[in-house]
Amino acid sequence: MITIKTDAQIEYMRKANQIVRDTLNLLRDHTKPGVSTYELNRLAHEYITSQNAIPSFLNYHGFPASICVSVDCEVVHGIPSKKKILEEGQIVSYDCGAIFNGWHGDAARTVAVGLITPECQRLIDVTEQCFFEGVNSIVAGVTRLGDLGHTIQAYAESHGYGVVRELVGHGIGRNMHEEPDVPNFGVAGRGMRLSEGMTIAIEPMITMGTEKVDFLDDGWTVKTRDRKPAAHYENTVAITSRGVEILSL
Ligand code: MG
Ligand code: MG
Repeated sequence: MITIKTDAQIEYMRKANQIVRDTLNLLRDHTKPGVSTYELNRLAHEYITSQNAIPSFLNYHGFPASICVSVDCEVVHGIPSKKKILEEGQIVSYDCGAIFNGWHGDAARTVAVGLITPECQRLIDVTEQCFFEGVNSIVAGVTRLGDLGHTIQAYAESHGYGVVRELVGHGIGRNMHEEPDVPNFGVAGRGMRLSEGMTIAIEPMITMGTEKVDFLDDGWTVKTRDRKPAAHYENTVAITSRGVEILSL
């Protein structure tokens, strides 16, 4: 079932998403060679709870941390660990969710650890732009999910990148994952129309090489099959009468 949100409900979601945004900014500012992903998780957990919010990833289907930290060829759902120390030249994807007053926020960013190659920087930039190409194409009541997915896919593929098929964006509200699925690929003209009051997380997961992924037997981590880097960029957006509002920016 698709839930349509009132302005008051979107206001709660705005707050949850601002906490997520600020957490991601904090993580970016602490990203440097030598820091463990465990420490980054600790910082995020402390910040979210200090804002009277709940880290929604912690214990979600048993996930053991408050954020996902995915390095280089890890696409998403990396588990923070004391043994995982960031190194110069890596790229790291942070995915963060928070619940405020019962409403969810969800966003993700990929950032550089120290100096990275131009190839990795381009992957990060194009992945971010995939999101904005998608968002800027949305016309409430007109754009279909297939149009949105097609726009994102076409932009990624025009740069020679892959679009992960097994993982998609989603509706969001009182639950982190609601209907509908929001794929980063698709056929224009297909699928449901995006209409006023819908709140969705749009989250391109873009690969430098093959779009094929492996699900590791830790039960969580997703890696590119060719072990080339991947990037992730996500925001929660609200489709309103005033246009599309990005709640987590
Ligand atoms: Mg997320
Ligand atoms: Mg999400």
